[in-house]
Amino acid sequence: MYKGIAVSPGVVVGVAFRIDSGLGPSEPQVISDRALIPAEVAQFESALEQSASELKVFVQKVAQEVGDSKAEIFQSHIQLVNDPELRDRVRHLIESRGLTVTSALHLVLQEYVGRFAGLEQEFFRERLADIRDVILRIVGHLSIDGSPFLAAMAGRDLNEANGEPVILVAHEILPSQAMSLGDFAIAGIVTETGGGTSHAAILARSRGIPAVSGVASITSEVASGDPIIVDGRDGVVLVRPDSETTAAYRKMQREFFDLKDRLVLNRDQPAISSDGTRIELLANINNVADAHAAGKVGSTGVGLYRTEFLFLSHQDVPDEEEQYQYYKKVLESSPNQSTTIRTLDLGGDKTVPYLGRRYEANPFMGWRSIRLSFEHPRLFEQQIRAILRAGRHGKVSMLFPMITTLEELRYVNKLVEETKRNLRKEGVEFGEDVKTGVMVEVPAAAVCIDAILRETDFISIGSNDLIQYLVAADRDNPKVAHLCEPLSPAILRVLSMVLDACKRTGTQVTLCGEMAGQPRSVLVLFGMGLRRFSMSPAFVPTIKALLSRVTTAQAERFAHHVLQLKTSEEIRAYLTARLHEISSDLEVFDFS
Ligand code: PEP
Ligand code: MG
Repeated sequence: MYKGIAVSPGVVVGVAFRIDSGLGPSEPQVISDRALIPAEVAQFESALEQSASELKVFVQKVAQEVGDSKAEIFQSHIQLVNDPELRDRVRHLIESRGLTVTSALHLVLQEYVGRFAGLEQEFFRERLADIRDVILRIVGHLSIDGSPFLAAMAGRDLNEANGEPVILVAHEILPSQAMSLGDFAIAGIVTETGGGTSHAAILARSRGIPAVSGVASITSEVASGDPIIVDGRDGVVLVRPDSETTAAYRKMQREFFDLKDRLVLNRDQPAISSDGTRIELLANINNVADAHAAGKVGSTGVGLYRTEFLFLSHQDVPDEEEQYQYYKKVLESSPNQSTTIRTLDLGGDKTVPYLGRRYEANPFMGWRSIRLSFEHPRLFEQQIRAILRAGRHGKVSMLFPMITTLEELRYVNKLVEETKRNLRKEGVEFGEDVKTGVMVEVPAAAVCIDAILRETDFISIGSNDLIQYLVAADRDNPKVAHLCEPLSPAILRVLSMVLDACKRTGTQVTLCGEMAGQPRSVLVLFGMGLRRFSMSPAFVPTIKALLSRVTTAQAERFAHHVLQLKTSEEIRAYLTARLHEISSDLEVFDFS
């Protein structure tokens, strides 16, 4: 039994499929028939050619959209693709050892890692990241849909599951890989890295897949095909369990999914507390598929559309027209054609090569999110234009992440006004009534909330970041995960302060961090006066059921009480008892 961090609730019994950094199974794969070796080499050569021509196109496009200096990254990748050392080594491994191209590339990557190990200089780390990118690109051209991850997923091992649910086991799941999860029948996820709010965790939740992260060295304990159990509520992973344990967990799995199926039947009922207070239950989405899912579970709109996933799943920079078309599609697929579109929140744990790769000691405190948009004004303006244009096709709000100071907010507001003027001048139609809002997720903005509220239409509280910055603990680092605790006196006080300020000024406020989908947190937030919750679609039915069983006054009492408590332990114990009284059947959904 291995203990990690529970990041997405539910229980699943299945077989492991271990992947290694997007390159498929880490065990060397040998070509069964040596007569096929020349074909394997030819496939490699053709993938090299395709990668080179693809990169040439990127160089042009990125130079045009973002600037020449950013295109240099792809230029250096072209050199790597054409590097005779890389080519000869891979050919040699295929011809002499009979390895598949993917396996040979995998080995070459490991050789580079070994060569650069211990070299601290940034130059070598960057070089290694470039080599890795190039190798993944080549693998992508060997296989379906240009995605190495898809190739790995479609590989032989997945079929060996014999109809059993497949549980992905990986060191980490890259954002671009996480995007492809929906295309495969993945039933559970276990990773060594990442905390409860990492992109992989958020994606697992949005698909309703049980997941556990922070399980140190699990990839060396599990082989593909091993029976494995993921308990995403307690954060437990069982490898090669005995038959009694398996039977017990199968029962829990059945009960959990039966309950989920029953709850979703409330999709057409309004979200309302037992004494009649109306609540808006909105969805956090990453793409069109999520927008459809949001409607199916009964959310009434999209409270947070994270646009970075469009950029992450795009090989090069999506231009204004591509963005506009995609946002329009998202909007048309969203419940009530109502979507809050957040501008790019890259950096931190999500990077794309075409905006430059820069190693920082503290990426979450560094060059991420709106700071990155400020540095790329052309790109930022394009996105604002695309969002404003999409605003003609439904109810669109534009949300700016990581606003820290009033100056930043003023600059953004000015940019939006300028962009509108330009669109008018050019005679381009756009949504005149698109509202603009601020993500309150940096403590500085929360502390100065009164000033912020005077100059914005609405706010959305990003509790994931607000928590990590308040407690100075990286949200993706399992070692400090215990500090990223929403139910703590400091967090609840700050939240209460922000909500009170919104009440005083009559400003619309939503909370779109992960705590919006966690039953005990919801009880407190509702009691503090929050009426708009935005969460992974999978949680909407649960939260609707929970709120329908509590009165406003009851929740106000809970909130009042927890604000007097001094430790997280007391707060958690108190709310656990309240949740048990109100809805013991929903306790399985509280994984925080
Ligand atoms: C947050 O920080 O709470 C949030 C919703 O944004 P993200 O998780 O994308 O940083
Ligand atoms: Mg955030």
